[in-house]
Amino acid sequence: MPTNFWNAVRVWVQPEAVARNFSRLRPLGRELVPVVKADAYGHGLLSVARALVGVGARRMAVGTVSEAVALREALPEVWVMALLGPMDWQDAAACQEYGVVPVVACAEQWDLVRLSAGPSRPLSIALKFDTGMARLGFSVDQASSIAQQVAVTPGVQVETVMSHLATADDPAAASFVAKQGTRLQEIAHILAQAGIHAPLSLANSAALIAHPQVHFHWQRPGIALYGANPLAGTPWQDRCPPLEPAMEVAAPVLQVRQISAGTTVSYGRTFTAPRPMRIAIVAVGYADAYCRGLSNRAFMVLGGRRVPVVGRVCMQMTAVDATEVPEVQVGDMAYLLGGPGGAAIRGEELAAWWGTIPYEVFCLLGQNPRSIRSRS
Ligand SMILES: *Cc1c(COP(=O)(O)O)cnc(C)c1O
Repeated sequence: MPTNFWNAVRVWVQPEAVARNFSRLRPLGRELVPVVKADAYGHGLLSVARALVGVGARRMAVGTVSEAVALREALPEVWVMALLGPMDWQDAAACQEYGVVPVVACAEQWDLVRLSAGPSRPLSIALKFDTGMARLGFSVDQASSIAQQVAVTPGVQVETVMSHLATADDPAAASFVAKQGTRLQEIAHILAQAGIHAPLSLANSAALIAHPQVHFHWQRPGIALYGANPLAGTPWQDRCPPLEPAMEVAAPVLQVRQISAGTTVSYGRTFTAPRPMRIAIVAVGYADAYCRGLSNRAFMVLGGRRVPVVGRVCMQMTAVDATEVPEVQVGDMAYLLGGPGGAAIRGEELAAWWGTIPYEVFCLLGQNPRSIRSRS
């Protein structure tokens, strides 16, 4: 689809900011395994991975085996774990061929890797257990049986034993984090009885920052690398080191208009001008993943100032109150995320207006297929 100045949303990503965040977070843990799934949370898998390699990251985690293969092809020196594991025989074969470390989280995945591996076809795996998410992973009860099977399967090597935390970003739920940590230790003990010893991994960003007692050997930060504080809005938010945002999103102003007091703006007439106003129409809407729920709630940055969204977000357009920006002109860029100087909008703020978390904001805005991506 051709995009031009007038219809395109711009996404600027600074992979070096992700790398600098990695360096800021590294002293908190033992060995960080950066999580770059979902196109590095919308920031661009390969450019982010290259920047992380530049600051010394040697292992990374993606979601699908396809993502892992893309990463291994571009950066063969990086050890890559596929968190979702193999879904079918092609995935299992690809792990073999490209040296991807699949997460094995259930009997079906164990069959896929067991039958793909052999004495002449070694395959390293990550064994995943459920300690409290009830999502992926063998249960504690299955630990002994899977350990015995793995131990006698030629060619299969366990590189890490892992689980995932449900509540690390909630100070009120710290006891559940501790419980999950205890369960992972119990599992490690069961595996050791079958002769399986591997680095343990449980911590995500929030646990890396706030729960040192569950750091074990490897930590798997995601969101903090992309500059969002996973503890934002909680009593523990100051435990997070200062992090840099890495993504900015902007769209051009299509039209500037003066409206008189009492004029209503956009569908449903949900906003009525309380006084004469200057309105700027910005070329971004819910078709560009700028959620309609941001109607009358969000702010953008225009001319270096915060300006409120007025009326309903439309499919490809959104109105903002530009009364305080007298110099605004058609073609000026309005930032929905980021922006110049002190007015910059953080992912945490946009997420709060949106009623979601920065993870979703970055993934949706960053992976918008219609946007023009450029490096700042
Ligand atoms: C996404 C993910 C992470 C990273 O979590 P953050 O909260 O972004 O730090 C770690 N481990 C697993 C298994 C994940 O799926």
